[in-house]
Amino acid sequence: MRLAPGQSVSMTEATDVALRCPHCRHTGVFFPVQDGWDTRWWESVGDDMEKRAAGARVCPNQDCGGIVLVVMHEKELVESFPPEMIDFDATALPERLLATLEEAARCHAAGAYRACALMVRRLLEELCDDRKADGANLKARLSSLGSANLVPTELLEAADELRILGNDAAHIDGKSYDNIGADECEAALELAKELLKAVYQYNALLDRLRALKKSRD
Ligand SMILES: [Zn+2]
Repeated sequence: MRLAPGQSVSMTEATDVALRCPHCRHTGVFFPVQDGWDTRWWESVGDDMEKRAAGARVCPNQDCGGIVLVVMHEKELVESFPPEMIDFDATALPERLLATLEEAARCHAAGAYRACALMVRRLLEELCDDRKADGANLKARLSSLGSANLVPTELLEAADELRILGNDAAHIDGKSYDNIGADECEAALELAKELLKAVYQYNALLDRLRALKKSRD
């Protein structure tokens, strides 16, 4: 979002806005930094002119306090900086995989879709490394995750699609996917989350349930 040269601006009262925080990933109602004012201007959108307002907001999570710049149209969010990220569960994920998943989500939020697909492919490599899945290449390593019964067959097929998408993102002659855009990356991230859930998080959940069982014996 930019102001045109010589764009005239005025002030408008800053309002609260619901966001998923790009810093802590909690959803909350962000409030103006001070009870104050946003900068307002008129933006041409197609044949129409629409009001825009921009200003800073603060995450309501007291452990976070992250600041986000929002651009609003009336009471609707147009854009935020940093952008909102898709949600993911960090429970029981090894640090290295968590960092890569977070980077993939940041790439997606920033509209860097090919970079996102590459990060998802890297996640697969790291998953194979962590689980000591051997093989001559990533395809073979993924299928050895299946033979070790670490990942159900349906998810293995999904993992192979993620590998192919990542290949296309890395190579200029990639041709399995016509386009690597928001939809492809969103689906890829959702599948990657399911894969991580199967390998790391079901057991963590089971342990939690078992711990509750013992405490009541
Ligand atoms: Zn936050």
